[in-house]
Amino acid sequence: MRRKPLSLAISLLAAGLAAGNAHANEEATAWRLFIADHSEPVVHVFDAVEGKQLTSFDIHGPASLYRSHSGEAVYAVQGSSDVVTAMATGIAFHDHGDHADIEIGEPRLTGTEIDGDYPVHFVEHQGHWAAFFDNEGIARIFRERDALAGSIELREVDAGAPHHGVVVPYGNYDLVSEPHPEDPSNLPIGIRVQDRDGTQVGELAECPDLHGEAATGNLMAFACETGLLIVRSGNGTPSIEHLPYADTLPEGKVTTLLGGRGLQYFLGNYGPNSVALIDPSEEEAFRLVELPTRRVHFAVDPIRARYAYVFTEDGQLHQLDVLAGEIRQSLRLTDPYSMDGHWRDPRPRVTVAGEYVFVTDPLEGKLHQVDAASFEKVGEVEVEGTPFSIVAVGGTGVVHGHDHDHDHDHDHDHDHDHDHSH
Ligand code: ZN
Ligand code: ZN
Repeated sequence: MRRKPLSLAISLLAAGLAAGNAHANEEATAWRLFIADHSEPVVHVFDAVEGKQLTSFDIHGPASLYRSHSGEAVYAVQGSSDVVTAMATGIAFHDHGDHADIEIGEPRLTGTEIDGDYPVHFVEHQGHWAAFFDNEGIARIFRERDALAGSIELREVDAGAPHHGVVVPYGNYDLVSEPHPEDPSNLPIGIRVQDRDGTQVGELAECPDLHGEAATGNLMAFACETGLLIVRSGNGTPSIEHLPYADTLPEGKVTTLLGGRGLQYFLGNYGPNSVALIDPSEEEAFRLVELPTRRVHFAVDPIRARYAYVFTEDGQLHQLDVLAGEIRQSLRLTDPYSMDGHWRDPRPRVTVAGEYVFVTDPLEGKLHQVDAASFEKVGEVEVEGTPFSIVAVGGTGVVHGHDHDHDHDHDHDHDHDHDHSH
């Protein structure tokens, strides 16, 4: 399973040659890690294949990083510095149907920054991004291709009151968090669908204590105190359904969601000592997986779709088989990182880059590199300062001489790594 992306690339390459392409076709692999410091305004970029630093970008404050679905952009959301900074990863794929080209250039700051008072939730849908500014109650929406070009046109959506909210740009509609009517400092109470004129369409979809959102395949979900809101696209208009937590589940709720890639499922937190695997198409949609100690962070594997990874406070990385709903393997990587203390203390974060899982070890100033197939530690990468939020972009593609029409195929999925209490 480990070699699938490579062998796929080789067979595509062979197909190209068989078709009589006279140009010199080569295959190239590139993976890059973007790592934000816990307290310094800097993002380091590493070549994940070589384990070498490529460059660093000075930004405005400590950041949570988000990679786009295409992998062409990484965004630094700097809540306390009131700005979102767009970086170009320098890696792009162009899907031509029978093969994918890889284009490799320098990572760079695009010059695009989105200003506003306290950005936190930051969501992509089909190449459109919405940064929600909590202290304004306003989302600013832009297209990724414009951000990469350094010239964005912002569209604003006003949720009605400052609150810890979220907006998802959903085709011709926006999904907008409804602030708590008595006290907007509470979490929002639901999602309303608005058209481009700001007119509400249909009823409010109730979602008490709304917090956490993700996409997987053609589904989108929001987490509530009572269950999940599942959003589907029906005839262009979003349809929203409430999926309640089963009565058999222990006390708890989901407040952070990730979307599976390659397999359609959601992975969420549920109480401090477990994660929930959620498949809305199943009769028993929620499966809890208990952890040995409290959970620190989790990530899905976009390549080996069957697996996700959970890091726990005892310093262990766990390989979670999402089909079986079981921890398959565990590997001790760091000293304990207790979940006692401040929620924002520096603790490890997990990402997947090609054949490897990388885990930041902020207090030791390094990354642990784990072979995803053997689930053995194979190396360490030193990073200056306190490496914290981390995302990876890359893959394998064909490099060849002829020109193509570049047609980007985005569907809605994204990595989500943000950190705050609730
Ligand atoms: Zn090509
Ligand atoms: Zn939040």
